[in-house]
Order: sequence, then structure tokens, then C-alpha cells
Amino acid sequence: MSFIQPIKRTDIRVSVNDRRIINGAEEADVVQLSPMKHKWAWQAYLDANANHWLPTEIQMQRDIELWKDPNGLTEDERTAFKRVMGFFTTGDSIVANNLVLAIYKQITSPECRMYLLRQSYEEAIHTHAYQYIIESLELDEGEIFNMYREKASIFNKDQMLINFSLGVLDPNFSTKGKENTQKFLENLIGFYLICEGLFFYTSFAVILSFQRQNKLVGASEQIQYIMRDESMHMNFGIDMINTIKEENPGVWTSSLENKIYAAIEEAVQLEVVFAKDCFPKGILGINSDLFEQYMRHIADRRLERVGLVARYNVENPFPWMSEAIDLSKEKNFFESRVTEYKTGGTLDW
Ligand code: FE
Repeated sequence: MSFIQPIKRTDIRVSVNDRRIINGAEEADVVQLSPMKHKWAWQAYLDANANHWLPTEIQMQRDIELWKDPNGLTEDERTAFKRVMGFFTTGDSIVANNLVLAIYKQITSPECRMYLLRQSYEEAIHTHAYQYIIESLELDEGEIFNMYREKASIFNKDQMLINFSLGVLDPNFSTKGKENTQKFLENLIGFYLICEGLFFYTSFAVILSFQRQNKLVGASEQIQYIMRDESMHMNFGIDMINTIKEENPGVWTSSLENKIYAAIEEAVQLEVVFAKDCFPKGILGINSDLFEQYMRHIADRRLERVGLVARYNVENPFPWMSEAIDLSKEKNFFESRVTEYKTGGTLDW
């Protein structure tokens, strides 16, 4: 099965039963969207389009005034904000590269590919949002954009993610066979559960703690939009992982499970070091101990979503994060929007 299939002249029509997320039948052309087997992926694509937004639609004036005011924020608050931006500026680009260069070509479900195309664009919008925040606040671009190389706590997180890409990025890699399918699943776990589901969420918590104090409200609004997108990315990834598990019996072994538990623990440890770098003294009611507890709390939720057992069993120290996530699903962001997207009938050519 090649992921870049040549098309063939034939009278045999594609059957929905030939569809698989990976390792689909050769006859099940990936260029043919219908018949669809993974309807949740199509729904995710429709939902993502309904949530379209652009960073430049959000007013940044209040943030600019606050950042310029020498008494607007403490030095510790400024450091925390910049560190989180230092992680974000490259985080979404690493995700996007893995999507486009490692994941996409292995996926044999056309409806999953449709969502991956949309997700890739959203990762670009997120990187744009960080660039827009940095430009608006006139932060030192060199400092923020190089931080992933200069700060060990960010570099080590990125390095962990990049290690999940190794092998899968090899042009000759294929998901055929149990070991290769497992390797691919590890990549999905690394990116959808650990990066999008853990690393991003703790950084969202930092930014939203500013919002709770009515500070940096523009940047926080950007982050709320991003968080809404990211929670969809994570849910889509979890659906892919669980479906691959079902469609490829025998690949989900106890040794794979142990690797997942170990990877989650490693991510927790890296995040704790990052938290100490972000707020050595604590800010806005967050300190590195609470941050660690939050990380462990959400790690359990992610484990459960892929059928594994909760390991840490700690309470959520930031119940307001759950509220913010729920709110971001319901809140009508479109009320405050300046731009209205043109519908088909009114497009100018
Ligand atoms: Fe994402």
C-alpha cells in the first residue's frame, strides 16, 4: 500500500469496508472522499470550519498599554508570559511539520486527511497569533523566537517531541507490520496527547491566569481561540488512536502501554522543570507545585481517553481551567468580530 497511490482504471467501486485510518486497502483510493467510514473525522472538519478565526481580528490595544506601563505588570509576570511565548512560537510549527511531513502521507482515510489539512492551517494560524502578540507588544523577537534553543527547559520539551518524529519522518517509513504501526501510534501519542494535550494546556493555564486578573485580555482571547482549536485537535487525535487500535488488532500490547506511561511521566517531569523556569517565585496564584499537580491531573484524563489507567489520582488545582475550556466551546466569539467571512454567493472574483 503506497500513500502516494497511482490511480487505476477499473470498474470495481471503492467499498467502505476497505477503508482504514492506516494500512487501508490498495483499492480504497485516498483521493476519493466518499464512501466515508470515519464520519467523526468529517464532523471534526465541519466543526473546525465553523470556528474559523484570524489573530488580527482581536483588539490588542489594552495589552499594549498595560505592557508599556512600567507598573502594569510585575517583572515575574513579564518573565512568565515571555517564557510561555518562547514555547508557543515553535511548538505549533513542530506540530505542523510532523502533521505534513510524517502523519499525512500515512493516513489512508480521505476524511481524516480532510481534517488534517484543516488542522495544518490552524497550526499556521496559531503561529501567526503568537507572532502578532509579540509584534503588538513590541517584544524582542530575537529573544522570544530563539528561546527554544537558548532555554534548556523548552529545548528538552521540543527535543522529546522531535524524537517521536524520528523514523516516521524517514521517506521509506511505512506503517505496514505490527512494529511500524506501533511506532506510528507512538508518534500520534507524542503529538496529540503529550504536545497538544499536556504541554499546551499547562501554558494555556499560565495565560488564562492573566485573564482571571483582567490582564493581557487580548492575548488571552487569542489563547482562548487557540485552546478551542487545540482541544479539537486532541479529540481528533484520540479518535484516530482508538480507531487504529480497533482496526489493527494485536498492535496495542502491554509493552506499548508501558512506553506510553513512561512517555507521559517524562513529559510531566519536563513540564515541572519548565514551570520552575516560568515562575520561580509563583505568579497570579500559580506556583510550580500547583502546576505539577495540574499536569498530573490532566495526564490521568489523557491516559483514560486511550483506555489506560489513571496513574496520579490528584485533584484538579485549577478548576477554572475546566470552566474556561467549557466556556470556550460555548462562548460566541463571533459577537466581538470585525470581519464577516464571505459566503459563496457574495464572493468577488
Ligand atoms: Fe494543534
